[in-house]
Amino acid sequence: MPRALITGITGQDAGYLADFLESKGYEVHGAVRPRPNSARQQSPNLSNQISIHPVDLRDAPAVAQLLRRVRPHEVYHLAAQTHIPVSFEDPGATVEANVITTLRLLEGCQRLDSPPRFFHASTSQIFGRPDKAPQDEQTPVRPVNPYGASKAMATDLVRIWRESHGLFAVNGILFNHESPRRGPDFVTGKICRAAAAIKLGRQRELLLGDVHAHRDWGDARDFIEGFWRSLQHSTPDDYVFATGELHSVQQVVDVAFATVGLDPAIHVRIDPSLFRKTEPSHVVGNPAKACAILGWTPLTPFAKLIRDMTEAALLACLETAT
Ligand code: NAP
Repeated sequence: MPRALITGITGQDAGYLADFLESKGYEVHGAVRPRPNSARQQSPNLSNQISIHPVDLRDAPAVAQLLRRVRPHEVYHLAAQTHIPVSFEDPGATVEANVITTLRLLEGCQRLDSPPRFFHASTSQIFGRPDKAPQDEQTPVRPVNPYGASKAMATDLVRIWRESHGLFAVNGILFNHESPRRGPDFVTGKICRAAAAIKLGRQRELLLGDVHAHRDWGDARDFIEGFWRSLQHSTPDDYVFATGELHSVQQVVDVAFATVGLDPAIHVRIDPSLFRKTEPSHVVGNPAKACAILGWTPLTPFAKLIRDMTEAALLACLETAT
């Protein structure tokens, strides 16, 4: 039975990946931050079959011990400090969470008698404000926030461990991907939850910044299959995972409010204080390499993704009332 270790098991992508790997017959292990409450209490989406390991991923001996105990065939390193504003507030913690953890895992994997295949969740944020669109694996790396800078360094470490230490190590350069499990701190999660809450009379209005900002939004449920495919290939490499399509925040609003039968013009207000100082433009990925080499396809259309998110938010809102 193949064994997989997923870090950041309480996160959006990890839950879907764990389900996917279980459906493929894997024994799944998940790493969580050591906390007083059990991880399962924090993440109701996780199946009972998953073995949970509390571990501080910055701690080299603890990481080495975890790897020796689990002896994974595949490691999916998804744990990260993922919020850009938080990365400005606490760049040190962001570097520890995103760079040091990656380094500890690479070192630990390399030292095992049978090193596992290693997937690292990198990000389009490594490109910052790119000059050319769409972006691909050759696009110059020029991050504009500490989150992007930390991921850029982690991405380089993964490439170095592949080229210099022979580890089967892959960077997935991930553009935005959402799902019904996306948190409210992200704009799609905020909009879909607000549409549901306004429909049920729990919220009066939705305040947004620049609704003309555009993003390449994919579906997390499609992306995680790409992570897995990248580790099944005969050789390790870096791959962009993206849809190649740009949609505006206004389009998210329109689909979400239409899903609950409301007119957004009545409920959405623009708050200039929410505009970002450095809004990147034309951040859109070219997934041609992943499509051609891995046979990966971003299947879910944008409107279906936003509808799914809004319907799930509506259901969650109704459940909290009962
Ligand atoms: P997410 O939902 O924010 O989950 C992040 C996970 O990392 C959580 O399990 C969290 O644990 C854990 N974590 C946070 N800080 C940590 C730390 N200091 N030490 C150990 N674990 C820590 O993220 P996601 O959306 O699933 O994304 C998965 C990966 O893809 C991340 O590496 C992210 O940077 C990358 N990515 C995501 C997107 C996207 O659009 N979703 C785009 C590009 C790249 P707690 O539950 O304890 O907080």
